[in-house]
Amino acid sequence: MLGNVITRIDLRGRSLSRRELLDELPRAEVDVEHAAEIVAPLLAGVRARGAAELRDLAERFDGVRPEHLRVPADVIAAAVGVLDPAVRAALEETIRRVRQVHGAQRPADFTVELAPGAQVRQRWVPVRRVGLYVPGGLAVYPSSVVMNVVAAQAAGVGSLAVASPPQKDQGGLPDPVVLATCALLDIDEVYAVGGAQAVAMFAYGAVGTEEVDGETLCEPVDVVTGPGNVYVAAAKRLVRGIVGIDAEAGPTEIAILADGTADASHVAADLVSQAEHDPLAAAVLVTPSVELAGAVEAKLVDRVDATMHRVRVTTALRGEQSAIVLVDDLEQGLDVVNAYGAEHLEIQTVGAAELAERVTSAGAIFVGAYSPVSLGDYMAGSNHVLPTGGCAHFASGLGVHSFLRAVQVVEYDADALAEVADKIVALADAEGLPAHGEAVRARF
Ligand code: NAD
Repeated sequence: MLGNVITRIDLRGRSLSRRELLDELPRAEVDVEHAAEIVAPLLAGVRARGAAELRDLAERFDGVRPEHLRVPADVIAAAVGVLDPAVRAALEETIRRVRQVHGAQRPADFTVELAPGAQVRQRWVPVRRVGLYVPGGLAVYPSSVVMNVVAAQAAGVGSLAVASPPQKDQGGLPDPVVLATCALLDIDEVYAVGGAQAVAMFAYGAVGTEEVDGETLCEPVDVVTGPGNVYVAAAKRLVRGIVGIDAEAGPTEIAILADGTADASHVAADLVSQAEHDPLAAAVLVTPSVELAGAVEAKLVDRVDATMHRVRVTTALRGEQSAIVLVDDLEQGLDVVNAYGAEHLEIQTVGAAELAERVTSAGAIFVGAYSPVSLGDYMAGSNHVLPTGGCAHFASGLGVHSFLRAVQVVEYDADALAEVADKIVALADAEGLPAHGEAVRARF
């Protein structure tokens, strides 16, 4: 089995352009573009048939026909009562830490005085209503409730709706810990709807309830956020423009930049920890140390054999999206991780903090031996909803900013406008839009 557990890519001695590097780096075979073709008809179905389609899709993909698509308020409230005390304490601690970090994220409004009587202000305004997706297929994610809800609440959003897949063993309700977490965060609008269909319900709204046909089940939202599998990420790509999205936060990726000083068993444990999310999860080690590469491969064999989700982890590690990449040195390693743009990047090297400063593309960076991705998944205080599939090159992780818009407010008085009137006319004439200039002249 050794050697088969994960592919090796050897970039040593090769000087590659960024384009060539991207071709060499591992990426999943089933990408978001491919998944988008599969989910497009599901979105159209929800748009046309509303609740009836949501029920049919739940039966098809989740194996259960929910009695209530909208979870009754008393069911949400009751979930807290049966919450394991240790889980409740952990949730309360993560809520506290995530609130602390997100409370510091809100950008400041500002006013610029360009001349006497000439003012431009910028105000950050929260969106009105958001749809927050909480995954629940292969695993359930109460932690994602915290990440979504706390960020939206810290931004000042007034209307928050959560959706999570109906669970067969819960009679078609979402996972009870997910519901309890919603209750702890004062969320009472929760839907037992999963996957691409949840994204469609949020983007288009949906009519038809269990009691009254034609009644509104879910009002459309302004922004859809949250993590999910490749189908959820694809659905978010398709509705972008109708609503805003945070980023495509699809199947998890971990890249680890490590040198010979890293502990092979920690590196292997961290690779396995993210591979257990999804058969499409990506686990990538970038290292100049052949010894570390060999030691990690050996540790992976042991860990994979012992881990609970052995089949899923093996598939993820052996998939085209995972590899050990051998590089000449940490400089080439840095080029590789910057070209890759991982959702999670761990740096386990000498001088890790300095290297972290030179990372230009990553959803989140985990510095040193004691900052594993699992810490960020649950308890660091940072947000775990992060861009995947190279979206880290242009997108940020979920945060307060995901729910805000910058609105510029312009206020000039007569003297201030008069001072620039000729210049406006000159530019308007140069653009062949003289009515623009006339609109200014008309005032004087
Ligand atoms: P999920 O809720 O994302 O997906 C389950 C839903 O997928 C089902 O309800 C079903 O509607 C849909 N589905 C399943 N098979 C389908 C098919 N063939 N066609 C169309 N739709 C289908 O839950 P999950 O599957 O457990 O996945 C969770 C994902 O979230 C993992 O990939 C994990 O790595 C990822 N994740 C990402 C981040 C991030 O920030 N990037 C954070 C946490 C989790």
